[in-house]
Amino acid sequence: MAEDPNAWAPATRLIRGGENRSNQGEISEPIYLTQSFAYESAAAADRRFSGEDPGFIYARYGSPTTQMFEERLALLEGAEYCRALASGMAAVHTALTGLLKAGDHLVAGRALFGSCNWIIQNWLPRFGVETTLVDATDLGAWEAAMRPNTKVVLLESPANPLLEITDIAAVVKIAHAAGAKVVVDNVFATPIFQKPLALGADVVVYSATKHIDGQGRVLGGAILGSKALLEDAYRDIIRHTGPALSPFNAWVLLKGLETLDLRVRRQTDSAAVLADLIGDHRAVKRVLYPGRADHPQAAVARAQMSGFSNLVAFDLGSREAAWRFLDALEIIDISNNLGDAKSMATHPSTTTHRAMPEANRLEIGLTEGYVRMSVGLEDVKDLSRDVKRALDAAA
Ligand SMILES: *Cc1c(COP(=O)(O)O)cnc(C)c1O
Repeated sequence: MAEDPNAWAPATRLIRGGENRSNQGEISEPIYLTQSFAYESAAAADRRFSGEDPGFIYARYGSPTTQMFEERLALLEGAEYCRALASGMAAVHTALTGLLKAGDHLVAGRALFGSCNWIIQNWLPRFGVETTLVDATDLGAWEAAMRPNTKVVLLESPANPLLEITDIAAVVKIAHAAGAKVVVDNVFATPIFQKPLALGADVVVYSATKHIDGQGRVLGGAILGSKALLEDAYRDIIRHTGPALSPFNAWVLLKGLETLDLRVRRQTDSAAVLADLIGDHRAVKRVLYPGRADHPQAAVARAQMSGFSNLVAFDLGSREAAWRFLDALEIIDISNNLGDAKSMATHPSTTTHRAMPEANRLEIGLTEGYVRMSVGLEDVKDLSRDVKRALDAAA
């Protein structure tokens, strides 16, 4: 191919990146549903295992359809290298444990996805890794939390469920001065609207289950960064602990990437319309959308994101009002997933965040009146009618 893929705009990268046509000339990428690979000779097997020949050995180590997905996502992200894994949590767990050992310290924003929080609070301590959780919007708190043994900083921006924004470049500066690597969970922002590596982060993780699939089908995850860091920190843990992505799921995600730019931009346009409709309604005490001027970190969002994604959170004042809202929806589903073509709304304090102690929930501002909505691809006029009806019911 004469064209340099790095010169392509995102939409082209998403369609053409990582293409590896077989001799059949297929248009849609082939699904290589194979566990292992045959070698032409004993000497060829020797070369493959020594690393002299970079081909495939066993699907737990890597496989062709999965590699196409990895190359396409890396090209979109502007990352040197990508490893795809079985789920977002496989990606977060591998990203953290590959960089940590007993006696190390981790600093993380306190508003984290539930399972990330579980790993930090319940799993890492069993292996001698301590964590300090901080208010991710407070740069002084990040600075104060750094210790000589701080090896990793983990942040999520926008964070779940109240869409708090962290100044990524500023936290990177603090972390790097302390000798720590920065891992950013970029799920809510999507690779379309935020590039943590360009802001100085070392590792980006995705749950590909969300916008990258975007049609509610498969689980997947990814870790992106420099080739040297990914090979050094993650190659062996991926090979030997087995979080490999299935080639079939990799194929579904490849197809998801082809329409990611279109889908996320349309969802974001609709989210902005709905956020304003919600913000203007008498039933609503507060709306949180990073694209609105009244978001507490609106300026940081504008500086580091090129779009504000499809999630909106809003406070209806009480659990009863929030539940009345959810129960009055006729198009939008009650569901805790996000990034899907289908719009969905959830009540975080009784679903995604019910395992978080109430004191911690209140610390992150999550009262029982909050609803989190993921805006999908239905016509925005129909969504507006559904949301308005449900807000009227909540009032
Ligand atoms: C969903 C999600 C994850 C976990 O991903 P799975 O694919 O469900 O394992 C991690 N972080 C964030 C921010 C998520 O939304």
